[in-house]
Amino acid sequence: MTVRTRFAPSPTGYLHIGGVRTALFNWLYARQQGGQFILRIDDTDGARNLDEALEPILSGLKWLGIDWDEGPGIGGPHAPYFQSQRAAGHRAAVERLLETGHAYRDFATPAELDEERKQAQAAGLPFLYSRKFAAFTAAEAAPFAAEGRQSVVRLKMPREGSLVIEDSVRGRVECAWEREQDHVIQRADGSCLYHLASVVDDHDLEITHVIRAEEHLSNTPRQAFIAMSLGYALPVYAHLPLVAEPGSRTKLSKRKLAQYLKNPDFKQISEHGTKIAQRIGLAPEADTFNPVIVDFYREVGYLPWAIDNYLALLGWSYDDKTEFFSREELIRCFSLERINSSPASFDPKKLWAVQDHFMHALPIEEKLALMLPMLARAGLVDDPPTAAAVNTVRQVIEASGDRLKVAGDILAYADFFLLDPPPMDEAAVKQRLAKPGARALLQQFAEAIGALPAFEPTALEEALKRVVEQAGVKTGDLVHAVRVAVTGKTVGPGLYDCLQILGRERVLARIDRALPLCG
Ligand code: GLU
Repeated sequence: MTVRTRFAPSPTGYLHIGGVRTALFNWLYARQQGGQFILRIDDTDGARNLDEALEPILSGLKWLGIDWDEGPGIGGPHAPYFQSQRAAGHRAAVERLLETGHAYRDFATPAELDEERKQAQAAGLPFLYSRKFAAFTAAEAAPFAAEGRQSVVRLKMPREGSLVIEDSVRGRVECAWEREQDHVIQRADGSCLYHLASVVDDHDLEITHVIRAEEHLSNTPRQAFIAMSLGYALPVYAHLPLVAEPGSRTKLSKRKLAQYLKNPDFKQISEHGTKIAQRIGLAPEADTFNPVIVDFYREVGYLPWAIDNYLALLGWSYDDKTEFFSREELIRCFSLERINSSPASFDPKKLWAVQDHFMHALPIEEKLALMLPMLARAGLVDDPPTAAAVNTVRQVIEASGDRLKVAGDILAYADFFLLDPPPMDEAAVKQRLAKPGARALLQQFAEAIGALPAFEPTALEEALKRVVEQAGVKTGDLVHAVRVAVTGKTVGPGLYDCLQILGRERVLARIDRALPLCG
């Protein structure tokens, strides 16, 4: 048997981090088993603009390296991969269920249903639908249709016994049939409901493993009933634990951002990302741009593999210690058996640490390749960049070391090398330059470095120390003043590296320009 898994998102216009975790587990399992991963779009709810609603999902999955073997964009032997285009198969399945007596056409009006419900209530009994139309022959039902009554198709669910499934994550799950209603599978207008469509599509696409979020567990009895009634073999089910809110067991939701921002780690990565987005000219709104959706990480310049690696650990572990995996390792190590059934809290701090790990390990040329487009988007380098700009940025990346956590961090670390004169941060000027004595100190420093035979970090540091000693001030006073004078701000790579990258001429010119701002 070839393992075939699927991810079946609805075209919602964004890719939720919890959805990615589902996609990732399906993908990992298929890859590990040498099987196939299928992307199916569950679009029966009729998205108004399908292309627009789909784009972030497709591009997000592509960015994350979660590639599909069949689905939108590439097609495949089971096309179409849009649920809305498979309606004929859904209708045919409903006809078969009607023929075999597993479903019935129900002409009951809402008022009649209500009446039955009330009677059950008055008698203190649980509502058990009389399903009187289930026994009607076509001839008996005809007058109701002639009267102009609408009909839906309902499943004739078992009322005794239970369904037992061996869920790969949760183990043996038993569901009593008496808890199920006669669910509607086809509306009066002939359109089929999601549960029916999903089961038929899974079967027709030869899906062997249904790996999906835990919230779908309650759908499994009716779906299994449909599948068994149609004579399908049941797929293997694996219901994944919830991706929960930071520090809680409630489902992570796109609608509760205000609440999550009270979590300091969530707030930190959210604000950090928003700042980067603003620098590249996006004007993000928190409800479309935040750490619950994948676009946030892509725009800000996280490493896709860091997101994958982090999400793989949300509910799964290889052992108690291994945290970092290469793509090949993760595919090799992944198993459904080691998925935990309790909710896994989204932990922004851990995600940040995983990102940090992979960024640290990234070769300089790869960092450069990620960061140059960021700079181009912010208008700080040309597109394509000049050789001189590439050279400067390479040096900045080297000098910044682990301070660059995501690709977008380069914007704050490189802007003052690329802009001449650099923008001067008012608060920094006030704090570091507008102090008595700053002007004289800077002048002395300029003199000392003007004469240096080699303009490189060690010599620059020694020169600065000599000035500090002669003036009898604290090292910090001069270090901070020089930094603000030549970079315009208080953060950046090490000061002596900054000076070397800028070169003597520009450093002296910038100090000169800063003198009038000094106290
Ligand atoms: N379209 C469904 C969803 O987005 C898929 C459910 C399933 O995986 O069966 O939740």
